[in-house]
Amino acid sequence: ATTLGADWALDWIERARAVVSANRIELIELDRAIGDGDHGENMDRGFTAVGAKLAGATPSAPGEVLKTVATTLMSTVGGAAGPLYGTAFLRGSKLADGSLDASGVADVLEAALEGIQARGKAEPGEKTMVDAWLPAAQAARSAAESGAGPVEALRAAADAAAAGSDATIPMVARKGRASYLGERSAGHRDPGAQSSALLLAAAAEAAEA
Ligand code: ADP
Ligand code: MG
Ligand code: MG
Repeated sequence: ATTLGADWALDWIERARAVVSANRIELIELDRAIGDGDHGENMDRGFTAVGAKLAGATPSAPGEVLKTVATTLMSTVGGAAGPLYGTAFLRGSKLADGSLDASGVADVLEAALEGIQARGKAEPGEKTMVDAWLPAAQAARSAAESGAGPVEALRAAADAAAAGSDATIPMVARKGRASYLGERSAGHRDPGAQSSALLLAAAAEAAEA
C-alpha cells in the first residue's frame, strides 16, 4: 500500500488484541519478576475492551481508531501502563486524520513517544517502554527519509522495537515499580517494552497483510 488508512488501523488493533491475549501469561511473568505481575492482565483487559468498542465501527481515518483505543485504554488498563499507552495513542491519533505515508507513520510514532515521555518522564536507558518506542520512532523516521514506503517504515519500527525490548534486559530500572528493585532489576526484560514491541509488530503485520 502507498498509504495506510482506517482499514489498516482496524486490522492493527485487532491483531494487537490477539497478540496481547496470546502473550498475556508471558507479560504477567515478566512483570512478576520485576513488578507486581499484573501487566499481562492489565493489557488483555484493555485490548479486550477496545475490541468490543471497535466491533462494527466504520471509521474514516486511522486517527478515529487510535482515539477510541486511547480513551478505552485510559479507562480500563490502570496502573502505570494505562495512562502511558492512553497518552501515546491519543497523541498519535491527532496526527492521523488521513491515510499515512511513511513520514506520517514516523510522525505518529514520534507523537506517541512524546506522549509517553511527557507523562512518565522516563529517559532512554531507564528500562521502560521508552526503550522500545524511541528506536521505533527513529527507525520509522530514517526509513521515511531514505524513501521507504509506510509498510517498510512500520516494519523497520517494529524490528527496532523488538531490539529495544531485548536491550532492556541488562538495564537497571530507574522509573516505575521495577526501580524499587534497583540493581536487582538487571537481567530481566521490561514488560512494558515487550508489550510495546508486540503492539508495533501487530502494526507492521497489518500493513504487510
Ligand atoms: P504497574 O507498574 O502500575 O503495575 P503495569 O505493570 O501495567 O503497571 O506496567 C508496567 C510498565 O509500565 C513497565 O514495564 C514500564 O515499561 C512502564 N512504565 C512504568 N513507569 C514508566 C514511566 N515513568 N515511563 C515509561 N514507562 C513506564
Ligand atoms: Mg504491573
Ligand atoms: Mg500494578
